[in-house]
Amino acid sequence: MKVDIEQSSGFCFGVENAVAIAEDALREGETIYCLGEIVHNDIEVARLTGLGLRPITYEEFENLHDCKVLIRAHGEPPSTYARARENNITIIDATCPIVHSMQKKIQKVAELSREENGQIVIYGKEGHAEVIGLIGAAGPRGILVTGRGDLHRIDYTRPVFLFSQTTKSKEQYEVVAEIIRLNMEKVSPDHSSTLLKVHNTICGQVSGREPKLREFATRHDVIIFVSGRNSSNGRMLFEVCLKVNSRSHFISSPDELNKEWFCGASNAGVCGATSTPRWLIQEVAELVAAI
Ligand code: SF4
Repeated sequence: MKVDIEQSSGFCFGVENAVAIAEDALREGETIYCLGEIVHNDIEVARLTGLGLRPITYEEFENLHDCKVLIRAHGEPPSTYARARENNITIIDATCPIVHSMQKKIQKVAELSREENGQIVIYGKEGHAEVIGLIGAAGPRGILVTGRGDLHRIDYTRPVFLFSQTTKSKEQYEVVAEIIRLNMEKVSPDHSSTLLKVHNTICGQVSGREPKLREFATRHDVIIFVSGRNSSNGRMLFEVCLKVNSRSHFISSPDELNKEWFCGASNAGVCGATSTPRWLIQEVAELVAAI
């Protein structure tokens, strides 16, 4: 069977950068703690743990002193940096530069909109590390919306500055922004356009993959999507494939492959999320080719 790998699949630049920073730091032989999983992929986490990176929870972080802690690509809220200073922890900051600049922008907008009592609305997944960092940057006027069901949290008489988690779907973000705009129009027909400012913060490394994946999934009989189960963009990008190809299958490890998926197929495509290592996609493609 002919097997192709989708060329844009694999680590995004932010994750690649964070893994390279971790590998560099580990070369000195010291224990490096990592706040949370460095990437939402168990197999890659296990590889880095083998090199000496120790993932820790937030509770464990609270009790650490005098050591080195790596901050992953998702970034952290200001409170994490403050705690590190208090406990003499050296931070190795692998926050993705795109996330970092969004945090700075949010802080600036929060500062500038204080007098007009603006709301900093973050569209994202509850509990996601990047979103926790963004809400932390927004401060007390930050509001999280995970979808249409949360839009009642917004006061439509006050200015809204809307930002999205970098890995959300562009289409869904536009829908949420449009509903907010319509709700504002109802409440303040004359001022709705000045009350809402939508910031385009979906990362091009993710949104650029949607059309490529759609086209790739259409062209192949069977699609194997490789991603960690807790990867936000993995779920979202898999849905993109599934929408156009019902023979799309999500796996997080090569041993989940099922021969029956390929019955009658003459070709297959293998692709993955921004948190899926390229070597794993390659390994899966070789196994599929051997079926
Ligand atoms: S998806 Fe984009 S913003 Fe998120 S870590 Fe990757 S490069 Fe950075």
